[in-house]
Amino acid sequence: MTLPEPVETMASPLRMEYTFVAGTGRSVFLRGLARRQLLARRCPGCRMVYAPAPAFCSGCLLPTGPPFALSGRGEVATFCVVNFPFPGQVHQPPYVVAHIRLDGADTRLQHLVREIAPELVRIGLPVEPVWVDDAELDTSTTSIRWFRPIREPIGPADA
Ligand SMILES: [Zn+2]
Repeated sequence: MTLPEPVETMASPLRMEYTFVAGTGRSVFLRGLARRQLLARRCPGCRMVYAPAPAFCSGCLLPTGPPFALSGRGEVATFCVVNFPFPGQVHQPPYVVAHIRLDGADTRLQHLVREIAPELVRIGLPVEPVWVDDAELDTSTTSIRWFRPIREPIGPADA
């Protein structure tokens, strides 16, 4: 007897609602996103710069310092290329999900990298955020559509 083809997916009416409690520390970061700011905070003990920042340093347990704005630029710290389709997917594969190390921060922020062919993305690629329109800004990382490569002028003709 031959086995039938496996059922790989099935539609299901199940839904789950989540309430994400950002906490007092990360709320600062999320409110910054609604103003197109990427806010960081430094630990006064170990000097680690968090973005997003918790209220307390996870290493020292000291309260992190006052928030300050980063430029928003950063570089790809690591990434993966999503090549497979799955139900509910927002973007058409292939696309890149990366950890971005923002300039001036010691932590990483996970986001999409677009406006570049996935096979050209590299660790160390300089990137900048592409913000949504004013009406779409929110206390969420969705205020950033994605990160894209920073295209520096190459010479006088390109300036
Ligand atoms: Zn610390």
